[in-house]
Amino acid sequence: MAHGNAFTGTPQPMPCHPTGCYDFHCHSRASDGTLPPASVVELAAQNGVTCLALTDHDTHAGLAEAAAAATRLGIRLVPGGEWSLRWDTRELHVLGLNVNPEADALRELETAQRLAREKRAQRMGEKLDKAADVAHSYAKACTLAGSTWPGRPWFARVLIAEGKVRDMNHAFNRFLRRGQAAFVATPWATLEEGIAAIRAGGGVAVLAHPQHYELTRTKLRRLLADFCAAGGQGLEVAMPGLTLHQQQLLAECLRDFPLLASGGSDFHSPEQSWLTLGRLPPLPRDAKFIADAFR
Ligand code: MN
Ligand code: MN
Ligand code: MN
Repeated sequence: MAHGNAFTGTPQPMPCHPTGCYDFHCHSRASDGTLPPASVVELAAQNGVTCLALTDHDTHAGLAEAAAAATRLGIRLVPGGEWSLRWDTRELHVLGLNVNPEADALRELETAQRLAREKRAQRMGEKLDKAADVAHSYAKACTLAGSTWPGRPWFARVLIAEGKVRDMNHAFNRFLRRGQAAFVATPWATLEEGIAAIRAGGGVAVLAHPQHYELTRTKLRRLLADFCAAGGQGLEVAMPGLTLHQQQLLAECLRDFPLLASGGSDFHSPEQSWLTLGRLPPLPRDAKFIADAFR
C-alpha cells in the first residue's frame, strides 16, 4: 500500500483543532513532573491551550488543584491519568481520559498500582541488600523518597550514598537495569483490568506513545487488536518527534482499527527543551478526533 505523508498540511507552530488548542498528555509533581498541577495548567494556558488533560502516572492526586486553576484561567481541564499496564511480558502506558476520578473502579486501580510499586520496591530492596551488600536498602530508599514506594532512582541514590557505585548510570548498569541482580518487574494491573477500570469510571482509554514499545508492525497490530477487544478506544498519534515512518504507520493503524486519534506532548518539565506543552503536529487526515467523544 502506498502512503504519502498521511499527516495533513505543513507543520504549524501551534496547530489547533477548530475548537481550540489541546494537549491530552502531561505530568505534574503529583507524579514525576517538576511543576505543581496549577503551574502546569498556567503554562498550558500561556501557550494557548484551551483544553488540557493532566495525566499523571497511576494517580489522580493532582486533578483537584489543576481543575481549580483551569476554572480560574477559563480553560477546560479533562481529568486523566496514565496507567502502567501489563500486556504479554511488556509494560504499556494507557491514558484514561475524561474520567470521574472518584469512581470506585478507579480508586481501586489507584490503590492496586500503589501496592504494586510498594511490593516491587520491597523486593528490590531484598535483592539489593544481597547483591550490593547494603543493609536495609528499602528503608533507606523510603527515607530519601519520603514514601513507601520508592522507584529505582531512589535505590540508585542509596547505592551512591553507600559508596557502592560512582553515579546513577553505574547504579542502573550494575544493579537496577532489567537483567541485573536487583531488577524486579512491577506487578501492574493487566491491560484488560486497566481498561475496564477506566471505562467503569466513565473514561476513554487511549494507548499512549505507541512508538515507544519497540514493536514490529505485526506486533503493534496484535496489540491494537487486543486493545480494542478490551474496550480501548483511542490511539495517541500526535506528539513531538515522530519520524515520517512512524507517522505513516500510526495513520495506517487509525484507518484499520476503530480508534479515535489523540495527541499530547508528554510534558514533564520546562527543562525538556525538545518539547513544549500544547505544541503538537496535526492529526492524520480523516482521523476522528478524540475530544469529540468528551462531550
Ligand atoms: Mn513520566
Ligand atoms: Mn508513558
Ligand atoms: Mn507520560
